[in-house]
Amino acid sequence: MAHGDDVLQAIRDAAATIADSRYVTCLTGAGVSVESGIRPFRGPGGLWTEKGEPSMDGYQRFLRDPESYWERRMRETGEFGISIMGAEPNPGHVALAELERMGVLRTLITQNIDNLHLAAGSRNVLEIHGNSRYLRCVSCHSRWPLEEFRVESIPPKCPECDGYVKSDTVMFGEPIPGPVLNRCFEEASKSDCMIVAGTSATVTPAASLPIMVKRNGGRLTEFNLRRSEISYICDVNVFAPSGESLPVLVDEVRKLV
Ligand SMILES: [Zn+2]
Repeated sequence: MAHGDDVLQAIRDAAATIADSRYVTCLTGAGVSVESGIRPFRGPGGLWTEKGEPSMDGYQRFLRDPESYWERRMRETGEFGISIMGAEPNPGHVALAELERMGVLRTLITQNIDNLHLAAGSRNVLEIHGNSRYLRCVSCHSRWPLEEFRVESIPPKCPECDGYVKSDTVMFGEPIPGPVLNRCFEEASKSDCMIVAGTSATVTPAASLPIMVKRNGGRLTEFNLRRSEISYICDVNVFAPSGESLPVLVDEVRKLV
């Protein structure tokens, strides 16, 4: 890694903290997918920074007129276009999947909708903002992979409860599905260590999770490209691209467990 001794030392400190913890979870955001070619929404170079934020009442508009939503959706190749559909996991995703296989990482909570953690082999994944490769019923929270749901009429209805079906991706104005949100808080409350990777964790509800860990006396290890809003409460700060630092973390943890 071309980042020098201080980054390597920080990764070793993070590895020691993680190896010494009883229940390790991870929170990820857009930063871990940048190296897979997915543009973040916010911040420098972000899709919304450039094009403006989408309408704040997207979900209310869907509920008022699900038919227009589905007509638009069927015209387009998927609501986020090909950049997500063609993306591959990067070494950062692979490293987090490996930490789970090693029995070190219990649960991965992500704000990303790009499916790349699952594609990399992570199994215990909570997707706060949903997954663009899935559809979901807004009434009973049933979910289906895109390829398993047959759209027979527009707007399609849930085969279980007749509720409206939309992308699993959480829209502006849409509540985070209760079952997912509850599990996120449950996992954070059990954690004595959380890895925060590729996110400054400023957007609620994700923002409350590391704070909860910290308040309960747990430790936070940060893997971000640069100093962020979360840095000051983290016990260890690794400032490097996560696709480079996380694989080194796995090697260092392996020496200790
Ligand atoms: Zn339903």
